[in-house]
Amino acid sequence: RSKGEGGGSHREYEPSLHANAEERRQLEHSLRHALERDEFTLHYQPVVDARSEEVVSFEALLRWNSADHGFVSPAKFVPLAEDTRLIVPIGTWVMERACHEAAQHWPEHIKVNVNVSPEQLLESDFVANLVRALSESGLDPKRLEIEVTESIFLRDASVAREALESCMALGCSVALDDFGTGYSSLGYLRKLKFSTIKVDRLFVQGAAQQSPESIAIIRAVVAMADSLGMTTTAEGVENEEEVEMICSLGCTKIQGYHFGRPMPLEDVRAMLARAPQDQRLKSA
Ligand code: C2E
Ligand code: MG
Ligand code: MG
Ligand code: MG
Repeated sequence: RSKGEGGGSHREYEPSLHANAEERRQLEHSLRHALERDEFTLHYQPVVDARSEEVVSFEALLRWNSADHGFVSPAKFVPLAEDTRLIVPIGTWVMERACHEAAQHWPEHIKVNVNVSPEQLLESDFVANLVRALSESGLDPKRLEIEVTESIFLRDASVAREALESCMALGCSVALDDFGTGYSSLGYLRKLKFSTIKVDRLFVQGAAQQSPESIAIIRAVVAMADSLGMTTTAEGVENEEEVEMICSLGCTKIQGYHFGRPMPLEDVRAMLARAPQDQRLKSA
């Protein structure tokens, strides 16, 4: 197919570009059928309280095992799903599944975090779909935390804000994910009451390597969150040194391979079946 389509000269000059475009086209084709082929699952990664190290939530992370391509990383297919708007139906599926699994399989004091892309949040029926996912699963809205990145404010900021305010009015909380890596202003922090600011792994790992800049940035984010009445979650904590650094900087919650990798539901259930003080998986 590719032979007749593009000019051969392009391939000659930019072979990798052509290969990428072709790969992308094939991935997109498979992604279009992934939902009906039932190729998605959710894995869950624990979020722990920084002081007690007890699990307070699990973040739902989408996994795609494609019949055509095998396991594909979210770093690859999520942006593609966003570009093609396939993230709208896929994200609806994620929301329904995560609410259902949390309501069925874990105790009431543990929350579930669900990532929502701008394309999905800005859809006119986002809130209606959320209400349906909550009522059909029976999940208490207080147990759902929606994760968005600063990028939502680069699009239609007032529509995004309204949608998030509706989520909050339902009783859900909203976390600001990958904080510090976006390009938007801090203005929206005055207007929206996020429950948590998730400090990107970039700063966490920098701080552990004694980068004075990363340490200063985390300190500032923690102080700011504190005075805004928000908590902080450190992302990507992989070892004991990072735990210590993060705790000394005052982050409220921790997420990362040190406390558990994203895992299938069976492993979540096994983890929860153990006593709270052992609710900590070895970093495999
Ligand atoms: P995110 O929401 O910031 O999720 C955290 C990512 O960091 C996950 O990657 C997780 O596996 C990884 N991670 C967690 N702890 C550590 C650690 O200690 N070290 C390292 N190196 N990495 C760690 P994952 O699962 O590959 O997901 C990548 C991104 O894809 C997510 O970043 C999120 O932006 C997006 N994503 C995943 N699932 C969904 C979804 O259901 N909907 C949407 N819209 N986006 C999703
Ligand atoms: Mg997230
Ligand atoms: Mg994140
Ligand atoms: Mg991230």
